[in-house]
Amino acid sequence: MRLDFTREDIDADDATIRAQAAQAPVAPLLAAVAQLTGEYDLLSDDIRPDPALPWMPPDYGYPSETAARARLSAADALIRYRDRRCPPPVEPDPKQLRALVEFVVAPAAVDDDYLELLQEELALGGDLRAPRWRVATTAPRRRFSVAVIGAGMSGLVAAHRLRQAGVDVRVFEKNTDLGGTWLENSYPGCRVDVPNHLYSYSFAQTGHWPQFNSTQPVLLDYFRSCADEFGLAELISLGTEVVEARWNDQTSRWALRLRDASGAERTHEANAVVSAVGQLNRPSLPDIEGIDSFGGPYFHSARWRHDIDVTGRRVAVIGTGASAVQFVPPLAERAARLTVYQRTAPWLLPVPNYHDDLPAEINWLLRHVPDYARWDRLTTFGRLQEGTLPQTIVDPRWDRSNNSVSAVNDLARRRLTAWYEAVFPDPALRAKVLPTHFYGAKRMIPDSGRYAATLQRPDVTLETAEIGRITPSGIQLADGRHVDHDVIVYGTGFQASRFLTPMRVVGAGGLDLHDWWDGDARAHLGITVPRFPNLFLMYGPNTNIVVNGSIIYFSECAARYITECVGLLLARDAASLDCRPEAHDRYNEWIDAATDERAWGVSDVHTWYRNGKGRIAQNWPFNLYDYWRLTRAPNPADYVLR
Ligand code: NAP
Repeated sequence: MRLDFTREDIDADDATIRAQAAQAPVAPLLAAVAQLTGEYDLLSDDIRPDPALPWMPPDYGYPSETAARARLSAADALIRYRDRRCPPPVEPDPKQLRALVEFVVAPAAVDDDYLELLQEELALGGDLRAPRWRVATTAPRRRFSVAVIGAGMSGLVAAHRLRQAGVDVRVFEKNTDLGGTWLENSYPGCRVDVPNHLYSYSFAQTGHWPQFNSTQPVLLDYFRSCADEFGLAELISLGTEVVEARWNDQTSRWALRLRDASGAERTHEANAVVSAVGQLNRPSLPDIEGIDSFGGPYFHSARWRHDIDVTGRRVAVIGTGASAVQFVPPLAERAARLTVYQRTAPWLLPVPNYHDDLPAEINWLLRHVPDYARWDRLTTFGRLQEGTLPQTIVDPRWDRSNNSVSAVNDLARRRLTAWYEAVFPDPALRAKVLPTHFYGAKRMIPDSGRYAATLQRPDVTLETAEIGRITPSGIQLADGRHVDHDVIVYGTGFQASRFLTPMRVVGAGGLDLHDWWDGDARAHLGITVPRFPNLFLMYGPNTNIVVNGSIIYFSECAARYITECVGLLLARDAASLDCRPEAHDRYNEWIDAATDERAWGVSDVHTWYRNGKGRIAQNWPFNLYDYWRLTRAPNPADYVLR
């Protein structure tokens, strides 16, 4: 994939230009055209999205007539621009930039701080999150090295940022290729649930996404392209697992014990370690009796057996989470009979264009209005900065016995229920698929209707009876029935609470991280842990999102914070930086208190968010701006620098 926007001059006739604009999401279209043509009066107050209307095609939050009028105005501006022979776009001045940004994130208030965040996300003037310090000027005589563990989405951005500052970086990756989750999850139907223009680095935008929500091979190609573009591949040791990381109090350095595929071990030393091992990469096979007794092939969704042909076979799928909802439809296409074993019905989120290719009209805009993708990204960011967070906030006076946590949460449930009524006309099936947990207690799973339709195929059965045990020939249900199967696929999720396992991590004074956490991982800002100096976590505890944002954003924030921590170490000529327990504890109390006021915090539905101690160790309970505000730079008062 090319990481660029190649602008082509517009030479189409008027009718063609109007046709190209006729389907586009309105707000980013107007912003991109205003910026390209300099016609800022396109952004009139009467053409703003209506927050009461859903941001969905065909009109993207506008009354239809307003959308049509806005698109026509944008097309006419492009026609005038063509007639002026397509001069190069002029950089917006600060006032124009504010007008553009406020237009696409309306009706949210944009103060100066938020504007700065939005400008970073927009990245019109280039990579605004790049470190502003360099080792060569901050500490010219010091050689500071960082070992990054993992070459997935988080590890790549951490390595890139540190290297931009001139830090000596090595990346160790257990797999034989980079890509992390986008390498390991190769199951059929795998695709991202956040639109591409947002699910991509702010500093590596491209106009070449084939779909609104691209598939796993496309995402893997994107991350490989980023690694090439930023020269990261040469830093990565593939096929190298970090088995142990041990802090040396005397030398203030980490020693990593590395193991290659042959089992040979060696040691690597570094001043700091960044763990970017992900949360969702240790598959969880359920503790069901007889699992190993099954006579046919069985495998987990993240270890897909591409050598197993399911054509004409009787297939079982256990689990109905985000992965299963994606691979059930393509499996059903090939299997003779598919039985989906559901323990908890997930909330499906209708996204009509979820599986669609980008229409030719949008591709035309991407080629001729080059910053259209950036404005589309910012529009999505503006909507997802809070997302549906307000609908998940618990009203303490609300009666939760009717399956909702507040009036707006109840309204969201009723709206979704109406969609379920439309797409699942059979009341018996609907009773099985309609969730009984709060809206927002788990991440919603986007569906264009494909999964819903698959469950209604005559050769597909949704089984909600409890699984008793696995037998050599199939699945024995707790109610006594037995279903014969040839293949069993486990879409049963990951051991998400076991952060940084199976690696051993030993900090100051010989303290073992897993003993210290005792099954309840916590970190300051999800990044630093007291008594583990110079250890930094990406996608650490409480940095996962349920109803707002893209996880790439959190990784970009964490990468900046970590790079600034290294900058602080060098600027203070310190050997180590250790989080103060008070800062860590205060922060975690703040997180826990907010979690207790969120739908996922008060729900008793089974999720991978809650660890064995009953605490939600995964989720960030605030908006995106709050995480950015806290991670722009470390507060030196939160750390002991030695
Ligand atoms: P998951 O959300 O944890 O779902 C696991 C499923 O397996 C659930 O339906 C669960 O039922 C079921 N299950 C687990 N143990 C079981 C047992 N013993 N008996 C019966 N059923 C059992 O896992 P996932 O679908 O792999 O998704 C994990 C996360 O990865 C998602 O939440 C999402 O954040 C991410 N993801 C994202 C995308 C995307 O971007 N499009 C795609 C896939 C995954 P219960 O609900 O009752 O526990």
